[in-house]
Amino acid sequence: MSMINAYAAGADERLSADERALIERRARVLGPSYRLFYEHPVHIVRGEGVWLYGPGGEAYLDVYNNVAVTGHCHPHVVAAIAKQAGILNTHTRYLNETVVAFAERLVGKLPAEVSQVMFTCTGSEANDLALRVARTHTGGAGVIVTETAYHGVTQAIAELSPSLGKGVPLGANVRTVPAPRSSGDVGKDFAEGVRAALADMERAGIKPAALLVDTVFSSDGVFCEPKGFLAEAVEAARAAGALFIADEVQAGYARLGEAFFGFQRHGLVPDLVTMGKPMGAGHPLAAVAGRPEVLEKFGRTSRYFNTFGGNPVSCAAGMAVLDVIEGESLMQNALKVGRAMRAEIGALGGAIKEVRGAGLFIGVEMADAESAASVVNGMRERRVLISATGPGANVLKIRPPLVFGMDHAGLFLDALRAELALL
Ligand code: PMP
Repeated sequence: MSMINAYAAGADERLSADERALIERRARVLGPSYRLFYEHPVHIVRGEGVWLYGPGGEAYLDVYNNVAVTGHCHPHVVAAIAKQAGILNTHTRYLNETVVAFAERLVGKLPAEVSQVMFTCTGSEANDLALRVARTHTGGAGVIVTETAYHGVTQAIAELSPSLGKGVPLGANVRTVPAPRSSGDVGKDFAEGVRAALADMERAGIKPAALLVDTVFSSDGVFCEPKGFLAEAVEAARAAGALFIADEVQAGYARLGEAFFGFQRHGLVPDLVTMGKPMGAGHPLAAVAGRPEVLEKFGRTSRYFNTFGGNPVSCAAGMAVLDVIEGESLMQNALKVGRAMRAEIGALGGAIKEVRGAGLFIGVEMADAESAASVVNGMRERRVLISATGPGANVLKIRPPLVFGMDHAGLFLDALRAELALL
């Protein structure tokens, strides 16, 4: 997870005295692991739709936050959370209609085979649980991930998140494969990597448990074309006894425009699907969905309980998010606005090497990290928020709330055009 966070402590003319004091307090109390985005950190106090607001009322166009899928503070989601918080908020060990109704609605978005769901609070927890299920079901331990994958923060998941850097060692049972490329026979080449990883596991006496991929390859630099390219790799993994876990934390929930989940663009039916971020539009809600036969042994041998995961308030939030995605046709909006934005960005030329993505998840490859950082920080000064990703931190990450309209796209393009002209 690369970040544009070159902020160096000390006097920064652009910050107010209050903001400098807040940065110091933050560093003192939150410790050394936290990072702020941007050379000139953004101080926000309020959000509405695609806009974030600073303490003086200054408006930032949010072209980055996928969690707020329905737009910041959507009134329908806010009302649903407030209403349920005023009625009941316990855990999943009592009979409760809201939890079951949300689970039923959620599995309705998945292929018929993937018919059961377990709730967690974060995407990391969802991947951690999926890994335990996969290892129980297969009896294997080996996991294949991409070279710059990010799947979360728990011990087990950090061990298979190479984007955390060399300071976080990979697990002994983990093998990485090169990320998909954007040219040549993408599917065959990616599958080749998976086959090599499986062969390496076999030599090491490791029984494979799972191929785990973020279906938009976000931290690898955004790769989602051509549709269907993942199928050959999944077939190879399954032939070796591994499960296919689709990490939909980034790609899922209508973002890619053509399908509710990223794996659907590849014509696949996963064994396990993990999801999170946009599910509660900011309220902590994540899940693992699976095929009943895959969940069976885990369910028989281990009790599952998660104090906060899937509580009635979370499920009310989840229900409201689905209402908005469907009621405001956000998937169609992602398709339309995303397509137009990619075309316009592609036409800008200049320092842009390649425009990738689907729907409202767009990756713009720049020559190097410096030009990407310059654009990201420059756009921030124009109050347009994006970030950068990929192994070389040279891919602009453009991933706004799905209520992003053509007018917002115009504002974004004006800022991007102006920054490209300065390179
Ligand atoms: N998987 C992917 C693909 C992610 O991008 C992330 C978060 N960036 C996670 C899992 C972890 O989710 P969380 O931060 O909710 O634990």
